[in-house]
Amino acid sequence: MIQSTQKITSIALFCGSNFGHDPSYQLAAEELARVITALNIQSIYGGATVGIMGHFADNVLALGGQITGVIPQTLFDAEIAHSQLSKLIVTSSMTERKATMYQLADAFILMPGGLGSLEEFFEVLSWLQLGLHQKPCAILNVNNYFRFLLDFLDHSVTQGFIKSGHRDMIINESDPATLMQHLLSYKHKPLIK
Ligand code: AMP
Repeated sequence: MIQSTQKITSIALFCGSNFGHDPSYQLAAEELARVITALNIQSIYGGATVGIMGHFADNVLALGGQITGVIPQTLFDAEIAHSQLSKLIVTSSMTERKATMYQLADAFILMPGGLGSLEEFFEVLSWLQLGLHQKPCAILNVNNYFRFLLDFLDHSVTQGFIKSGHRDMIINESDPATLMQHLLSYKHKPLIK
């Protein structure tokens, strides 16, 4: 049973619009959907049917959970919007979409994905670093998918471009339930950029 000390009622998920080659990515999305839904936490995501994104949404819905999609008009017009979501917000731009997702969420999780997922996650991380929010940011490191990225962040710390305190703010776990445990007990330690 996961205990919550942090008031988290909604989480934004940044996840691939592709499935990736290893089935472990889909299995992790299914497990994360189970953990989040069991905690009665609402999911916020990019609103599409495709890849890990759509798979995660389908699993939350099948479990009776709440999931809000936030999709820009261009992708909505391309007919990849999920039609069964608890709520779908259509925005006029990608920028507005991201701002809406960030406002709606109390925490952020990066799941395996590509450029879009990385860009969204690093934006919220850079805002955390600047003290613009204090919401926990976590990486679901399924199958050690993010090992080179995490190694690079460590390299950036040793090279003097990222403070170790900012690097340490990133929660990194391979198991969805353990990741949620860390996220719910996260205590923000302010650190001047
Ligand atoms: P990627 O990681 O490059 O596959 O991109 C996935 C992330 O970028 C998601 O979190 C979405 O918010 C956004 N995104 C990229 N491609 C799409 C798409 N075809 N439909 C909806 N959102 C997308």
